[in-house]
Amino acid sequence: MGRVAVIQGVVRRPEEATISVYDRGFLYGDSVFETVRTYGGKLFAFDEHLERLAESAEKMGFELPVSPAELAAETRAGIEAAGNEESYARIMITRGTGPLGLDTSLAEGPRRVILVEPLVLPPAEQYETGISAICVETVRASDAADSAKIGNYLASALALKKAKEAGAREALVVNRDGVVVEGTTSNVFAVIDGVLVTPPLDAGILAGITRKYVLLLAEEDKIEVRFDALSRQAILEVDELFLTSSIREVMPIVEVDGVPIGDGKPGEMTRHIHQRFRRHVGLGDRPPGAPTPVGQDRDVEGG
Ligand code: PLP
Repeated sequence: MGRVAVIQGVVRRPEEATISVYDRGFLYGDSVFETVRTYGGKLFAFDEHLERLAESAEKMGFELPVSPAELAAETRAGIEAAGNEESYARIMITRGTGPLGLDTSLAEGPRRVILVEPLVLPPAEQYETGISAICVETVRASDAADSAKIGNYLASALALKKAKEAGAREALVVNRDGVVVEGTTSNVFAVIDGVLVTPPLDAGILAGITRKYVLLLAEEDKIEVRFDALSRQAILEVDELFLTSSIREVMPIVEVDGVPIGDGKPGEMTRHIHQRFRRHVGLGDRPPGAPTPVGQDRDVEGG
């Protein structure tokens, strides 16, 4: 199983993959990125990810250094060189290098790095039993960048650290208004009286691509959807709760702040939506996640 880094279009082994210490991605988190994954060796929703990458760059006030088609070709070259059965790729664009100083005009032009790794899935058991989460009130750097997918995930990393220290697996990000907006690298959905409820885009969330497909599939199945912000208190009263992301797909949450959600087990609607999603991506009725003990118990980055 292989790992490679494609730096400025050149495929490199991880041990020879280096960038400048004057890169603003390193200095200031001044970068945007996408995480994409393969199903059956093919990148899923790749055009949508590239579009979101360009939008993120635009929100940050810089352009992609090469065309989306070139970025796509470089990503595919990395995936081929890595030679994994299934891969995930993290496509990063930084504002570039330059002399020290916050002034963005010091940057000498955007640079690109694509990291390709073997796809690591959550253990199957997490889908069967669900996971626990705690609510963490925090302010994310992306709030200052119109919810662009930017490189600075510090607030979420610290929220996740808190969750781990509390013995939970995930943190639900609560904003200053007391609203549960997202997971650390995922969107959030609740089920209340058979209605699918998720925060609207203007709640300051990432326009998740898995979220979009879940909403499309719900519409196909005539499941009622409501775009609503749920408070930290309200989330404890919902019937079902789940997260969505490219890597985790649809992950049930069965406990928040020590309080069981519904009956404390993954709910029917969650299972249904996940099954529909897996059929949509061509996996049929194969169960989700990596079978233990092959499944690794390290966190799977959906970011
Ligand atoms: N929200 C945040 C903050 C994320 O980092 C991610 C994952 O990258 C998502 C939501 C889910 O987005 P997607 O479904 O496009 O992977």
